[in-house]
Amino acid sequence: MNNQIVGTHALTKKMESNILKTSQDAKAAKKLNPSLIDATVGMMNKEDGNVFSYKTVSDLLCQLTDAEMYHYSPANGTADYRNGVIDWVFGQHKDAITKAFHINVIPTTGGSGAISNAMYNFNDFGQSVLIPNHYWTPYENIAYEANVGVETFQMFDENFNFNLADFRAKALALADKQHRLFLVLNDPCNNPTGLCLKKSDWVVVIQVLNEISRKGIPVILLHDLAYIDYEMAGFDAARDMFETYLDLDENVLACICFSGSKTFSMYGLRIGAQVGLSKSKKVIEDFARVGDYSVRARFSSVNRPAMSVIGKIFADEAKKTVFKAELMEAREVLKKRVELFEACAKKENLKTIPYGGGFFIGIPTENKNVFNDLVQDGVYVITMPGLIRLAISSVRLDEIERLVKIIKKHQ
Ligand code: PLP
Repeated sequence: MNNQIVGTHALTKKMESNILKTSQDAKAAKKLNPSLIDATVGMMNKEDGNVFSYKTVSDLLCQLTDAEMYHYSPANGTADYRNGVIDWVFGQHKDAITKAFHINVIPTTGGSGAISNAMYNFNDFGQSVLIPNHYWTPYENIAYEANVGVETFQMFDENFNFNLADFRAKALALADKQHRLFLVLNDPCNNPTGLCLKKSDWVVVIQVLNEISRKGIPVILLHDLAYIDYEMAGFDAARDMFETYLDLDENVLACICFSGSKTFSMYGLRIGAQVGLSKSKKVIEDFARVGDYSVRARFSSVNRPAMSVIGKIFADEAKKTVFKAELMEAREVLKKRVELFEACAKKENLKTIPYGGGFFIGIPTENKNVFNDLVQDGVYVITMPGLIRLAISSVRLDEIERLVKIIKKHQ
């Protein structure tokens, strides 16, 4: 019992998101001084600074009937949405995946809702999830809110390859310690590093998950693919890792988190999905049962207009083709910025983490004061221990040369 207005478990709760706060600070500073470079924003922006919205999405949003706009959405989603998510996420591997696995799709409030439901339902209170040491910081808040802790492994070896050895060691140790492994991997197009795992990395990840599962330990892979549609290698290559999924052992649960915010630029409409995959029917029955309960208990159902629009795109091959072409345009914009950034970085001898796609470029740093040093020179980025996260998704081409020079000065 305590005498405070909040419950004991919430006494120390305080949101210290450096991402949101820094982004707001950067916006305010830029209003006063438009020459500042704001590389904090995790949204895809056009060269004019406005969000890269998709015409297919905007047109459909304006044409919705009252029912498609205002009714509640079904808690387990419309058929167009559910089936469409499976088609979209697995792409060319859909047939192989649907043949090998039991599958269930649960609509959620963005990818965040999916991560939150999964962390809450697939851990015991007091256990920890395993994530790489460079991570999207809200994972931590979502875990703590679910009464779950966070343990990390080294993401990179000395050559900036994915550190399979440390992953294996930490995964086995944590699984043995707490009789559960809940692994969070954000791939492809990792936020904050820009890393895309190689298919050969995924082969080993799956082997380690199987090794643990064979000891009778529950294994959950939370695969956050929020940025999958911005991998430079393109739509099909971004989905190649699903081939390695086919080797997953019977009792492993893969929980794929899909984000409508990124794929459709519907950041504010809050839609996504949690896709459960397992070769065990029982595991997917459990996934569906607890997921459905959590949707109703936590947010009832998700955004109807967003579900209607995405469902219409997914269900209509012609619309899907037009939308895919628009996505390709966005990737081209990103590609131009990244190419210029890499050329300038080479000229300035600025060391960066190999970029495979997505909204962010990771730059290693040993400067503990790097954030303040950059702000002094008019650059806002997100910094994390040992890392600068640069949102190339929201930086203009004409800012890049200056940006690289300033970062080099303080790296
Ligand atoms: N995962 C990662 C790595 C992200 O960066 C984000 C958003 O920034 C999300 C998931 C979730 O996004 P949303 O909840 O808007 O779908």
